[in-house]
Amino acid sequence: MRSIETQTDIDWDCRAYGNSSFVSTHVTMRTTQTGALSLNRKFQEEAIDHRKERKFIVVKSSLDLLFKNCDICGREQKHTKMICGTLVTVNTTCDCGHFYSWQSQPLSGTMPIGNLILSAAILFSGSSPMKALNMRNHAGIEIFSLRTYNNIHSAYLVPAVESVWQLNQLELLQAAKESNGAMILGGDARCCSPGHTANNEVKNSYAMEMEGLKRGLAHLSENDIKVSQIVTDRHSQVKAYMKNQQPEIQLFFMFGMLQKKLEKKGQKKSCQILSDWSSNHLYWCAASSNGNGEMVLQKWQSILNHVANIHYRHGDQFQECQHGLLEERAWIKQGSMAHDELKSVVNGRMLVKDIKKLSPGQQTSGLETFHKVVCHFAPKVVYFFHSQMNARLYLAALHFNEH
Ligand SMILES: [Zn+2]
Ligand SMILES: [Zn+2]
Repeated sequence: MRSIETQTDIDWDCRAYGNSSFVSTHVTMRTTQTGALSLNRKFQEEAIDHRKERKFIVVKSSLDLLFKNCDICGREQKHTKMICGTLVTVNTTCDCGHFYSWQSQPLSGTMPIGNLILSAAILFSGSSPMKALNMRNHAGIEIFSLRTYNNIHSAYLVPAVESVWQLNQLELLQAAKESNGAMILGGDARCCSPGHTANNEVKNSYAMEMEGLKRGLAHLSENDIKVSQIVTDRHSQVKAYMKNQQPEIQLFFMFGMLQKKLEKKGQKKSCQILSDWSSNHLYWCAASSNGNGEMVLQKWQSILNHVANIHYRHGDQFQECQHGLLEERAWIKQGSMAHDELKSVVNGRMLVKDIKKLSPGQQTSGLETFHKVVCHFAPKVVYFFHSQMNARLYLAALHFNEH
């Protein structure tokens, strides 16, 4: 707490700025004065949800108006202000010895409630503490230090988030168990810097992805939850682990990586159709095939016939194009150089293998949305301590599950 200068000016009645409850609080105080009084007790007695209660920014000169004259005898009085983060305590004394103490907000124990609410607001809105505090400093608004924020964060906010998270997890796991079905998981690693992240527990981001996958599966297995499918990106370690250690779980791939690869190939003139088509066609191939890898592949390879104006007899599972009549256009002749180039990409050995395993469902778009939420709560450019990062990831997941 620190004190700021003594003031002896201006008219007490200016507090008509306040709303009725503010004024009535003061009326109570007036009749029970003599000696130090604290509004705090009264605040604590009332069951008010202070988080939802409206708060105001009060400029110092406006506040000084309130405390110029003694409320009892009307004489000019001295007052001192003590600041504790967002709290200002005003103590007044007049020549008759009337003493009065006013606090701008209630306390929770010994903590100004505003410090707690604002710290929570910074975290729960996914803001950067540094920026949020700086913004108030720029506006000249009294605020606690980053150190205080970190203390409140560790002592109150992290435990609160963890406890909500654990309850939420219990409910979700219970619901999953009761549904008796097997789960389809979507998973992807998120690296804090491009490439590799230094981490205490694992060597790099690939190792982190593997470790995350193993721990996630172990956690579900401990809770007796079956997993039927996993949708993830195409890291070879993941492929090998799933094949050798979890053969009963079907592995599917996300579009993202394949799509990027195809867009790159599409830069060649003969393969331009790939960059135009890759997102929609690829998605459609997988989404309309119900996990049937062979069907996905035949749909994908039908591109080669389609561009040559052949729309039938693509394969035994996917026999003809689904579109109606097409306008005349520049078709690519089979056997031409352009067609051969396209063919070598469409039929690429690795691509063919991976396309069969493209995820049939919406899991990937859900995962992408989740990543956006994570980026909101924990932007990659901001460094967070482990506990801060944890709390922010929990919040992101809670937020995602809730909406
Ligand atoms: Zn007085
Ligand atoms: Zn066609």
